[in-house]
Amino acid sequence: MKLETIAIHAGNIPDASTKAAIQPITLSTTFERQQNKTNEFVYSRIGNPNRLSLENVLSKLEGGQDACAFSSGNAAGMAVFQAMDPGSHVIVPDDMYHGLRNGIKEVFGQSLSISFVDMTNSSHIEREITADTKLIWIETPSNPLLNISDIENISRIAKKNKLHLACDSTFATPVFQQPLQWGADIVMHSTTKYLSGHSDVLGGALICSKKNSLWEKIRKIQEYSGAVPSPFDCYLTVRGIKTLPYRMRGHAENAEKLALFIKNHPLVEAVYYPGLHEHPQYEIAKKQMSGFSGMLSFLVKGGAEEAFSVVRNVKIFTNATSLGGVESLIEQRASVEGPDTKTPQNLVRISVGLENIEDLINDINQALDSSKK
Ligand code: PLP
Repeated sequence: MKLETIAIHAGNIPDASTKAAIQPITLSTTFERQQNKTNEFVYSRIGNPNRLSLENVLSKLEGGQDACAFSSGNAAGMAVFQAMDPGSHVIVPDDMYHGLRNGIKEVFGQSLSISFVDMTNSSHIEREITADTKLIWIETPSNPLLNISDIENISRIAKKNKLHLACDSTFATPVFQQPLQWGADIVMHSTTKYLSGHSDVLGGALICSKKNSLWEKIRKIQEYSGAVPSPFDCYLTVRGIKTLPYRMRGHAENAEKLALFIKNHPLVEAVYYPGLHEHPQYEIAKKQMSGFSGMLSFLVKGGAEEAFSVVRNVKIFTNATSLGGVESLIEQRASVEGPDTKTPQNLVRISVGLENIEDLINDINQALDSSKK
């Protein structure tokens, strides 16, 4: 089955009793025990029909063997680091999503040793590897700089050194990038973003290429810690996924047009969008992605004040963090990342939505022009 068909059909367990075409939401936290049979569901921290459907569709979309759904992207990411034995060394991107970077530093800073590395340079990764290294974590495209890591090349390094490779593919979605096909062992998504797609549900997921001992441990962490999405969250995410392939085409088409417009604006210093030929990792993006998705960042000439002025003056975009919804969002990124951010103060990040592109271009144009006054 092709992606569009999987997106619509793989997350639906038909209701045998009512014949409802759309799977109902099963709110019950407990399930009657069957005599002389093993129950498929016992207690909903451990398993629930809506979560099973969500995990099924996620696993199929990524071409994986299994998936674990979590209550947020961070809960999914943190589970991978929690699954590492104490004393392990992990290599993560120096421009990692700030929420997860701070999370692993603050929670696992004592039990794991963590190297923050420029993932666009494979020699930098190789020279960090020690006898204790167990995991390479990549995020591609990265948030908010839109750097691209070469998944195939890094997976070769991981395999040569017997390391696990996990990839945060939130910005790309399975529509544009399937990290398991390039050799990653685990894919992570914040399903809060494009997968659910309407900025109204928080969620996360991990998908594995094979059910090895690391995966068994991750499943246990999901079951015991209980950071699982509610049945309603699962239902909303499954519903969002049905239109994912079509939404992603619209996001990417709009983002490319907006990036091309912004790059020629006299008040803009640089644009970061992996679909632009001048992007430093354009060739890698072209190799491993079938589209360049809907996220872009740009540097306004000047500093923080000029960036704030742009985000204050937009009329259609919402000045808010997060991404992946149908509505366009814009933010001066450094202010949301906190005082230790390395993100330039004049960087504006955009989640390009599905509005008419002419309206979006006109809005950015007038916001840039009024920032000059
Ligand atoms: N990974 C990336 C790339 C993100 O952008 C985010 C959130 O913005 C996360 C992970 C964390 O996801 P959540 O907010 O669902 O916990």
